Amino acid sequence: MAVQLDERTEAIYQQVAARNPGESEFHQAVREVLESLGPVLAKYPEFAERKIIERICEPERQIIFRVPWQDDKGTVQINRGFRVQFNSALGPYKGGLRFHPSVYLGIIKFLGFEQIFKNALTGMPIGGGKGGSDFDPKGKSDSEIMRFCQSFMIELHHYLGEHTDVPAGDIGVGGREIGYLFGQYKRITNRFESGVLTGKGIGWGGSLARTEATGYGTVFFLREMLKVRKDSLEGKTCVVSGSGNVAIYAIEKLHELGAKVVACSDSNGVIFHEKGIDLDLVKRLKEVERRRIADYATYHKDAKYIASGNIWDIPCQIAVPSATQNEINGKDAKTLVKNGCIAVGEGANMPTTPEGVKVFLDAKIAYGPGKAANAGGVATSALEMQQNAGRDSWTFEFTEKKLDGIMTGIHATAYETSEEFGAAGNYVLGANIAGFIKVARAMVAHGLI
Ligand code: GLU
Repeated sequence: MAVQLDERTEAIYQQVAARNPGESEFHQAVREVLESLGPVLAKYPEFAERKIIERICEPERQIIFRVPWQDDKGTVQINRGFRVQFNSALGPYKGGLRFHPSVYLGIIKFLGFEQIFKNALTGMPIGGGKGGSDFDPKGKSDSEIMRFCQSFMIELHHYLGEHTDVPAGDIGVGGREIGYLFGQYKRITNRFESGVLTGKGIGWGGSLARTEATGYGTVFFLREMLKVRKDSLEGKTCVVSGSGNVAIYAIEKLHELGAKVVACSDSNGVIFHEKGIDLDLVKRLKEVERRRIADYATYHKDAKYIASGNIWDIPCQIAVPSATQNEINGKDAKTLVKNGCIAVGEGANMPTTPEGVKVFLDAKIAYGPGKAANAGGVATSALEMQQNAGRDSWTFEFTEKKLDGIMTGIHATAYETSEEFGAAGNYVLGANIAGFIKVARAMVAHGLI
């Protein structure tokens, strides 16, 4: 079922799989990039000579540490913390922290690997990294979250710095957690080093529009893909999975651009609201009260809650997976295409399985892979770093305009690269190749390190 690799890249893939046993998500992410790189090696033999692919697949540094903390009952709890500093060819390691019980080294490595190419595509001076913990924030009190973040930072701070490694949020890590992490970093180092974390609060170094950036950026990317096809978001029916930060602001921008979102979800179930999702309610339930999406139906009698439902069974023209990896499988992709889906913009990282990606590419719908479509979050993190370095703070409008320009640029780069390599409109190929070439050129320039 998987795309055939040439002999050389197949050997590289086999070596990565053997050296990183059991890390299936990492293998998947590597394979997807390798599938795009055959024509690049043919065009740039120096990349093969210098073993750029082999080097890119091996993280520069991997840190795994114990995170001990005490819960509200006084019981000692132990979690595992990770930071994978994958590639610093283009700038300090940059990428979020994920707190979720499913986290293990393979998840952090897949995310860190994707981050290298995503960050390269933004055109900003940032390398790739990722971190997190198997800590489950669900059901934890505010003080438990704080104690965990403080313990996590006591170890992590050794490896960070505004010119070294700059974490941010991801699943389970939002403004509150970044606040506790920043406070602890400041206390340990006795430095107000704004640029060491992004996603900070407004008023202490955060950037306006950072919260909105991933969701907004994904919608800007969708808008650009549709423009190529002489189409627009106006009047389109959309389904957005998830109800976290990415989903919420994807819904907001879709509504602003005249589309209608009829469904969203969380890990327990799906809300279908034909009239259009009431975003103010979702924001209140999720951002303020930290409740489950099921509660939405108690406020809207005409909305339907489908416990453990499959959101991709709901017919739509535009799908925006914004929950987590591998949430759309081959069967889901087929259902989407059959139901008339014409575009997919990935707000999450690697939300579509390789089988699903193949269905979208074969059907020739507009498919925007995460590493291009969701790059708005990290791009705006880089804008936050710029503001911190200049001790400046920009207006929302100015920052959003920059974000829009960056997303439009990423789309153009991915599209033009897909054309150059004879697969016009294949954004998987375009994004992988464009991101890879940028990193590879820098690695060649830096010598064998
Ligand atoms: N976690 C986000 C991502 O997947 C953002 C990372 C950042 O802002 O550094 O790109």
